[in-house]
Amino acid sequence: MTKIQYCPTCRTALVEKGFEGKIRLACPSDTCDYVYWDSPIPVVAGIVEYDGKIILARNRSWPGNMFGLVTGFLEKDEFPETGIVREVQEELGLTGKVVALVGLYPFAMMNQLIIAYHVTGEGEIQLGHELAEIKLVEPNRLKPWNFGTGLAVRDWVLSLGNTT
Ligand SMILES: [Zn+2]
Repeated sequence: MTKIQYCPTCRTALVEKGFEGKIRLACPSDTCDYVYWDSPIPVVAGIVEYDGKIILARNRSWPGNMFGLVTGFLEKDEFPETGIVREVQEELGLTGKVVALVGLYPFAMMNQLIIAYHVTGEGEIQLGHELAEIKLVEPNRLKPWNFGTGLAVRDWVLSLGNTT
């Protein structure tokens, strides 16, 4: 991943500075107070239920055996619920409806905060440009993975056990 090197405000090379015990990249210019906080980026994710099954998707840039949830970044001013419904439409061609918030999951490796929803999808599946393929899995056959959106799948599967 490329690290930021220059101040986006005045283009001075950033330097490391201490802030309350943490080292951060900051602009050394006297007339600029830019600090690169490196805060996590929110990402919406959908456990999309379609015809009683859950849609797992493989991104075009992922290896052939790796599937995950449909995810996406938010537009400016967009509510997360609106964002995941939009992503379900763009990536799967389905009309999505948010059932519930599953949870919030820090994904340190990607510096993201995953906002995961259970969503139902209706219509005919048509893959968007980001996805290579999908598979439909029965909820009780889901095998949660131990990072990123897998933690949301784990919690959702556990919640199924509590209601039946
Ligand atoms: Zn600056």
